[in-house]
Amino acid sequence: MTADEKVRPVFTVALAGNPNVGKSTVFNALTGMHQHTGNWAGKTVSGARGEFSTAKADYVLVDLPGTYSLLAHSAEEEVARDFICFGGADAAVAVCDATCLERNLDLVLQIREITPSLVVCVNLMDEAKSRGINIDTAELSRRLGVPVVGVTAHKKKTLRSLCDALDTLLTGKGKSHSDNFYDQDGTAENGSVVPAQIRDAVGEISGFFRSDVIPSPDWLARRLLEGDESLTRSIKENFPDSFADGRLEKICVESRKKLADLGIGRSELEDASATAHLRTASSLASAVVGTQDDDKCGRDRKIDRILTGKVTAFPVMLLLLALIFWLSVEGANYPSELLSRGFGWICGVLGNMFDRLGAPLWLRGVVVDGAVRVLGWVISVMLPPMAIFFPLFTLLEDSGYLPRIAYNLDRPFCCCRACGKQALTMCMGLGCNAVGVTGCRIIDSERERKLAVLTNSFMPCNGRFPTMIALVGIFFAGGSTVIPVLSLVAVIVVGVGFTLLSTKILSSTLLRGEPSSFTLELPPYRKPQIGRVIVRSVLDRTLFVLGRAAAVAAPAGVIIWIAANVTLGNGLTVLAAVSDFLDPAARIFGIDGVILTAFILGLPANEIVLPIILMAYSCGGSLVEMGELAGMRTLLEANGWTGVTAICVILFSLMHWPCSTTLLTVKKETDSRKMMLLAAVIPTAAGLAACFLVNAAAYLFGI
Ligand code: GDP
Repeated sequence: MTADEKVRPVFTVALAGNPNVGKSTVFNALTGMHQHTGNWAGKTVSGARGEFSTAKADYVLVDLPGTYSLLAHSAEEEVARDFICFGGADAAVAVCDATCLERNLDLVLQIREITPSLVVCVNLMDEAKSRGINIDTAELSRRLGVPVVGVTAHKKKTLRSLCDALDTLLTGKGKSHSDNFYDQDGTAENGSVVPAQIRDAVGEISGFFRSDVIPSPDWLARRLLEGDESLTRSIKENFPDSFADGRLEKICVESRKKLADLGIGRSELEDASATAHLRTASSLASAVVGTQDDDKCGRDRKIDRILTGKVTAFPVMLLLLALIFWLSVEGANYPSELLSRGFGWICGVLGNMFDRLGAPLWLRGVVVDGAVRVLGWVISVMLPPMAIFFPLFTLLEDSGYLPRIAYNLDRPFCCCRACGKQALTMCMGLGCNAVGVTGCRIIDSERERKLAVLTNSFMPCNGRFPTMIALVGIFFAGGSTVIPVLSLVAVIVVGVGFTLLSTKILSSTLLRGEPSSFTLELPPYRKPQIGRVIVRSVLDRTLFVLGRAAAVAAPAGVIIWIAANVTLGNGLTVLAAVSDFLDPAARIFGIDGVILTAFILGLPANEIVLPIILMAYSCGGSLVEMGELAGMRTLLEANGWTGVTAICVILFSLMHWPCSTTLLTVKKETDSRKMMLLAAVIPTAAGLAACFLVNAAAYLFGI
């Protein structure tokens, strides 16, 4: 390094704020990363890290899950709280929603108490402006004693003020604030007087923490005095020395007892802190927020009357679902056919090439009829509907409709002793069950979280949709798109029905308990950013899922080809031998040994189930041409399929063990093998029962 070159400082900054205020949007705009954004509370469940640079420094930015308070009540709130308290960040940025600043200021005041370097970033200024809300950021900054910037995260250039504020604060020119919850007379910042007994106890406890190590020993002391279990655990982990000789614990217990004798219990202590902040937030907001035009709120209420109304909510939900499916199925037809022809052509060219080179037949089989053909099937069948379904679903998410679904389904879930937030995790499962299972972190009660985790796979993920779409198309379409669309809606309704049924059974047996109360925020309706949504959902979601499927499909294609072509001593291929063995059991459930084998082999990725079935049936041991529905129907019928078989396969596809990624996610999230096993057994039992009933009914009625 030359003498002229200076080492650039690197700072870690925590990005905190209430849920749904635009933290991830700010994070993405600054770091160029693509964290999941959406118009509902709770989608960021773990902290993401990204980097960005300004003229003066390099920054590591940590996007924290949304939290209303540092007195955490849920797993993701704990993540945010622990990072802000003990993560060792150089500064925090508290992102606020300009359209409801007062509610956001409560958290800002809490963060200000424990972080000496804070920048308040008032986001959604565009929305505030369109609602006639005016925020005096300079006055807010003066009153809070910290830098305050107003931004519109969708417009990247407005974030320059945030970078400047961080530069000034951290590279020397700005000053860190110091904040005491109450002054020496015990007067809190809002003017209320804190009883001397509390102050004494806080003083004694805070003496155990060095203020050069933790910015606010007083804050820690108040939490210990309140007896907040999860925070106490975190404090012990981070400051083991302070607890080493047991004195601190003893003093906490004694102080709590002394205060209890004076009629000051945990709730009084918590109320003292909470009330002080709420009052301050209210007086700050009335000083800096200009008048509000209620037009948009009125508009939102009118829309809500339809989307969440007693009579209209469910029909509208079903109609929207049908519309999304219709657009996905109808729009996918042509590109699917085109891709399928393209892959057919590639297979032909590759086949000829192998022939001309005189390659052995098995090599041609493995590469062309195995790897490339299965890959071609997966891509041509999956890509087009997904490339339409995901953006449409994301548009709904961005507009703020998802929490309304949860609101509508709250009552049925409550009847099953679970909570409406499970509906949100269900919606996430519609794209990918592993994502749905991780998303269950938004549910505060452990019992209800387990219910949601165990039942998530009743929602068909994108690995299973193509099988269902193809089978409905092959057997029931009759040339129209209406029937496949209605069938897919029916599949989702059956999935929701089984989710509710199994939730009910679980909550009266293994996971007994009462439903917890929870607050579900209905965010304002926002105009979705159509261009960004389409680009991001195609790039982030569609290609991700497709990449995963393709990564499994090509090697699986090779293995399946080998299994379908290597013969054993008895003259049967490996695939035929396994399916013959499973056949008698499978017949009870309206399917056959080949289908059951395909589902078992599909454990790594469900999307390869139908290709395996087709490959096993086709005489040459390789897959039939993709996309030729009539050809597929002939092949399936030649192997004994009827409409009843198709229904049973669709039902079993909806309800069987989830893919291995989802199972591993269940294990990770619950830290329990038993839960992982249950997550596989419950949908499988439901699927087998449903198939058995359909098959038995068909038999009885002679269908
Ligand atoms: P988070 O939960 O705090 O991470 O919030 P997100 O970043 O996911 O944003 C929540 C919603 O607000 C999304 O629908 C965003 O598109 C939207 N949003 C974020 N910033 C802005 C903004 O500056 N203006 C407008 N109009 N919408 C925004």
